[in-house]
Amino acid sequence: MVLIDSTADADAVKRALIARGQWVRPTERGFVLEPHSARVSSEELAAIPGVSQVVAPKSQHPMIDAQGPIVDVAGVRVGLGATPVLMSGPCAVESEERIQNIAAKLAPRGVKFLRGGAFKPRTSPYAFQGHGEVALQWMRRAADQHGMRVVTEAMAEGEVSLVAEYADLLQIGSRNMSNYALLKAVGRARKPVLLKRSMSATVSEWLQAGEYLLVHGASSVLFCERGIRGFDESTRNLLDLGAVALLAHVHRQPVIVDPSHGTGRRDLVLPLARAALSAGAAGVMIETHDDPGRALSDGPQALRPEDLDALASEVLR
Ligand code: PEP
Ligand code: MN
Repeated sequence: MVLIDSTADADAVKRALIARGQWVRPTERGFVLEPHSARVSSEELAAIPGVSQVVAPKSQHPMIDAQGPIVDVAGVRVGLGATPVLMSGPCAVESEERIQNIAAKLAPRGVKFLRGGAFKPRTSPYAFQGHGEVALQWMRRAADQHGMRVVTEAMAEGEVSLVAEYADLLQIGSRNMSNYALLKAVGRARKPVLLKRSMSATVSEWLQAGEYLLVHGASSVLFCERGIRGFDESTRNLLDLGAVALLAHVHRQPVIVDPSHGTGRRDLVLPLARAALSAGAAGVMIETHDDPGRALSDGPQALRPEDLDALASEVLR
């Protein structure tokens, strides 16, 4: 991959690469060199005017490798070694009053990111699908009033620019981790992205999905483990804390863990949140609702905002 300066003449760089036998594919940050390009030293490519860096493809995800363990997400440092971040809010944004109420209870507890779905990926087409744009407006207002950042999901390419107007951190849902057209579109929004692991993805596939985001312009990627599909139905998913430790300690990436979808049961959320932070997570994302019994989605795994008190006092010391 050849990265170019923001002021460089991309066409001139492209011509110089082609003249050296390179087959190039333009991206937001430069050019990907196709594998059948001529063998030319990185030094020769780096000497082309306008080229800022030549990233050798020794790994399937060189830009992720270069990302570093702590990233800035809308002014918040996220990564192992920084203060753990709490992300919380309802599964879906249900009404303006409700998201206001939840945000008002979460912000004083140290929750920096307000989560909530406006566009919901539901297994059943008959289940609540989210309120769409108006929910983004409700959530943005609630977050602004309480000094929080917004993390919310974009499900489709055509939705990305709308969601990006309201979100500080764009979420890719588990069911979309390998929707490469969506990854490219989300990358082009040039924002930080929370990339949920697909329930059937290997760690390598997950890292390469992160690479798609950076190649296409995302400013940073947070990986989010939310459980993979296991054989045992006593928990909703199988929360893979081994993968969390691997990403955090070996690949040195910022990882967020979602023990709500990971277990599907509110009684297991806090123990697993603690385990995740011990394993190397940079933060946790926990579903909360002011009246879990009436939640329009995922009520059985929702905590009340006040249930976060003990965890918050342990991690935000
Ligand atoms: C969510 O966090 O709102 C969500 C739908 O989770 P997942 O994509 O992990 O199922
Ligand atoms: Mn949910």
